[in-house]
Amino acid sequence: MSDTLVRLVHIVGKENLVEKPDYSSSSAGFSAAGSSLSPDFLVVPKNSDQVQQIVALANELSLPLIPVSSSAPHNTGGAKPQTPGTIVMDLSGMKKILKINRRHKLALIEPGVTWEELANALKEQGLRITSPLLPKKGKSVIASLVDREPLLSPKYQWNMTEPLRSLEIIFGSGEKIYSGMGAHRGEDDAAWEDGTIPVTNAGPHQFDFMKMVTASQGTMGIVTWASVKVEPLEVEKKAVFVESKSFDEMSDFLYKVVKYRFGDEVCVFNRKALSAILALDGTQLTEIESKLSPWTALVNIKWGALRAKEKIAAQYADITDIAQASGLVPVHTVAGIPAAAVISRIVSLEGKNLWKEKAAGLAKEIFFLSTMDRIPGQLKTAAEVADTYSYPFSDCPIYIQPLHQGVAVHCQIVLPISADQVDSVELKELYNTMSRSLESAGAFYSRPYGIWADIVYEKNTQHTNLTMKMKNIFDPGHIMNPGKLCF
Ligand SMILES: Cc1cc2nc3c(=O)[nH]c(=O)nc-3n(C[C@H](O)[C@H](O)[C@H](O)COP(=O)(O)OP(=O)(O)OC[C@H]3O[C@@H](n4cnc5c(N)ncnc54)[C@H](O)[C@@H]3O)c2cc1C
Repeated sequence: MSDTLVRLVHIVGKENLVEKPDYSSSSAGFSAAGSSLSPDFLVVPKNSDQVQQIVALANELSLPLIPVSSSAPHNTGGAKPQTPGTIVMDLSGMKKILKINRRHKLALIEPGVTWEELANALKEQGLRITSPLLPKKGKSVIASLVDREPLLSPKYQWNMTEPLRSLEIIFGSGEKIYSGMGAHRGEDDAAWEDGTIPVTNAGPHQFDFMKMVTASQGTMGIVTWASVKVEPLEVEKKAVFVESKSFDEMSDFLYKVVKYRFGDEVCVFNRKALSAILALDGTQLTEIESKLSPWTALVNIKWGALRAKEKIAAQYADITDIAQASGLVPVHTVAGIPAAAVISRIVSLEGKNLWKEKAAGLAKEIFFLSTMDRIPGQLKTAAEVADTYSYPFSDCPIYIQPLHQGVAVHCQIVLPISADQVDSVELKELYNTMSRSLESAGAFYSRPYGIWADIVYEKNTQHTNLTMKMKNIFDPGHIMNPGKLCF
């Protein structure tokens, strides 16, 4: 037995360690050189003390460490080892929901808690949380939020990291730090009554430790606990769908709806994306697609507090007026499917609706942050690049998600590929050119995976140097997920 193995077993126990694990990853090509490596160990810690001990050991032996919190398979490159000797730390077993408090509308959770598990626990207490579009089965709430995955409700985002609030972070240096008011983590009811609770995200003091870990792809530290903001469960709801021929026609309507904080879930799909979400299987795709408009926006009005009926009726009337003023007409069914069924397919948390697989089989994706007014130009840019490679851009599912009360939008373009295109040089060039052309057209890769890291970091030397300085402070041994971002 190697020294590393003996010491890891000492920390987590033999039953919580796998040597040379079969580390599943279904990346559709374009992985960075060396990223086909498998980890040496997969360890499953049960608490933050064990996490801290593993970080200390990795520092002592200079071993790379990758945290994952969702259940396997880990889809693509973000959680893939790029250096030999990696230890993957799997936090998916840390599943405690430590506290749910209705008065302060907060939940305290460990990293292994999934969207479905949290939603079910909240529902029992008349609460809910805004979620991403159709998360994969076993997707961790903390991993999603730390990774800044876009959420369906822009209304409840007071900043880009909402509803993430206070965190417990074990940095690569081995130090445990509470961000925001995380030091008030207590589960004691009396403390919650007098308001000593982990409610804020920024701080403590002038430094915002949360910013060190969000979208860092596990390169700075490991979140072992978080408080998240929740909302009252709706007692009344009504969905409004608005269809249009182009995204340009839709953007004015969306700007106004989001500005007035109407609706909860607000999102937009092109025909290819929505047909894949609505189809129960691949055989229904063509029929549903033929009945859809090129673009469909959903505004799902919900309210779980006082005078719900009146509030929904007033918002519905206003949303209808805004749509009509923009030359659009709200519809009551989508592709002949009743509104309730459409909504339940869009907001499902079961991880069964594999819409991208239905739409594209194998695919690459390009996603970025932008603003609503820039999207038409950026889609045109992407289509022009596709044309030069004779790639059918009209086959691409597109999902557009207003964020942070409308100040930004997430734009996600799915590029279907065939099995023999996976390693093709031409497709790699198309992907690179499209990514770079979109960046020139204002696309911001706020979650810089794969080649986007180069695009982002090569453009801003000052920022890159500062990021390196922070890395040297918070992860001086550079053990955390080496090879990602600019590290
Ligand atoms: C739509 C989409 C497209 C993508 N395309 C690409 C691509 O083209 N190339 C590419 O390289 N990647 C891509 N990614 C990222 C990649 O899919 C994820 O990094 C990978 O799926 C990780 O598997 P997971 O979701 O099971 O991991 P998760 O466990 O959910 O982890 C996600 C990320 O968060 C970090 N993390 C997890 N838990 C913690 C924690 N407790 N504390 C701190 N950090 C944590 C992980 O290290 C990882 O980087 C894409 C992601 C999405 C959503």
